[in-house]
Amino acid sequence: MALKLEPGARLVVATHNPGKAREISEILEGRFELVTAGELGLGEPEETESTFTGNAMLKARAAAEASGLVAIADDSGLSVTALGGQPGIYSARWAGPGKDFAVAMQKVADRLEEVESDDRSAWFTSALAVAWPDGPAVVVEGRVDGTLVFPPRGARGFGYDPIFLPDGENLTFGEMEPTRKDAMSHRALAFAKLKAALL
Ligand code: IMP
Repeated sequence: MALKLEPGARLVVATHNPGKAREISEILEGRFELVTAGELGLGEPEETESTFTGNAMLKARAAAEASGLVAIADDSGLSVTALGGQPGIYSARWAGPGKDFAVAMQKVADRLEEVESDDRSAWFTSALAVAWPDGPAVVVEGRVDGTLVFPPRGARGFGYDPIFLPDGENLTFGEMEPTRKDAMSHRALAFAKLKAALL
């Protein structure tokens, strides 16, 4: 079965975060009529899977089933080699209830001290899933590799951006122009794959 999205189709963006919905609509270049899960009053499912792709799929499926529309969802995070891939799917949760990423970045630094490793390699992953209400779904993953730097550098971006220096770059994601980050990020790579698969 060919899974294609027709231009102008109505799509649910399975996020309650308006920033993410805007980013998704920008990347999809206004091709679709987008409505968010929040706008439709859909609940947020618990992220019970153990992988980025599993959680992206779970969120997309839940929104598609609840709305009867095609749904798109993402799940992303930072993985640190010396920490066995942590925080990974727990990246948002490491920031605590206050969503304070200064706390989360310090936690990464503290854990690295504890394991006494010199390996500072890390990567960001973005999984994007599209689910149809009648069952089929597509999931893709984008990854960008880099090195962690302490103390954090730069006030741009969000989350762990100030400690992430992408391979081959002199500026962290927190220091570089947003357009530059958007051209090389894990999310951009995942969207490129999704477009190739669906459009
Ligand atoms: P999600 O909303 O459950 O997918 O949480 C993803 C978490 O991973 C975010 O809260 C950020 O902490 C982190 N993260 C994902 N992508 C990025 C990025 O591009 N820069 C910095 N942090 C990111």
